[in-house]
Amino acid sequence: MKRLLPIAAALLLALAAQTAQATLNVLACEPEWGALVQELAGDKASVYIATTGLQDPHHIQARPSLVAAARNTSLVVCTGAELEVGWLPVLIRQSGNNAIQPGKPGNFEAAAYVRKLEVPDRLDRAEGDVHAAGNPHIQTDPRNIALVAEPLARRLAELDPANAAAYQARYADFMARWKAAIQRWEKEGAPLHGVSIVVQHKAFPYLEQWLGLTEVAVLEPKPGVEPTSSHLSTVLAGLQTRPAKMIVRAAYNDGRGAEWLAERTKLPIVVLPFTVGGDDQAKDLFSLFDDTIQRLLKAAP
Ligand SMILES: [Zn+2]
Repeated sequence: MKRLLPIAAALLLALAAQTAQATLNVLACEPEWGALVQELAGDKASVYIATTGLQDPHHIQARPSLVAAARNTSLVVCTGAELEVGWLPVLIRQSGNNAIQPGKPGNFEAAAYVRKLEVPDRLDRAEGDVHAAGNPHIQTDPRNIALVAEPLARRLAELDPANAAAYQARYADFMARWKAAIQRWEKEGAPLHGVSIVVQHKAFPYLEQWLGLTEVAVLEPKPGVEPTSSHLSTVLAGLQTRPAKMIVRAAYNDGRGAEWLAERTKLPIVVLPFTVGGDDQAKDLFSLFDDTIQRLLKAAP
């Protein structure tokens, strides 16, 4: 008994420390939303991120460790717009967690707060198109991050009212720093305005709209379909009349299609982090955009 007492006391202390640190368990589908929750919640939330910057968020396995994380979470923060349609519904169903079902306060879809680009006139998943609900890659425009931050801070406060003031204060602090950063990025990125690019996947329409880049060709014949040799030849021929300055792909993409085209055109390939953790420089939301702008500028004429 004497020996057990210190152990019990240590356990209790550890438990108390845990409760004081984090009150809200959050599961983020992608690293950018995990990073945003960390900005808004600090030590009030414990964040589990379901994917890394080197994984294709369209295609994830709902593996047992993910299901276990979903079972013990109060809030899932995901992109939505069908980005996770192949795995998130399975994950949520298998978790048996009533709090995170669609429509519940514990289920947050970032894309619902952003005006989506490339929304098709009619729903069409023909030939494997993975963007049937419009383009889901909203995180490549920092103004979209700002649009998501406000309702996300409100949701955190709703689920954890005891810390509502802390979420509000952290939101205000984040937004002040974020707005200043956007102004800086826009100034730095000014030389990119009007620069023509080839992209591998339709991953960057929001970034293009923000910085004024012009997309002249896409290596994938349809979103989510790997480049075929016949389609690559069509892209190569098209560049004769609509030339480009660089080939842009996300860190998680297979690089072979871009390399094929680069060999024949001598265009530089720009690998963008696409999300937090996509490369060593993109450590948080701020450095994600610092790095994105720098990589584009380095390849720009
Ligand atoms: Zn996509």
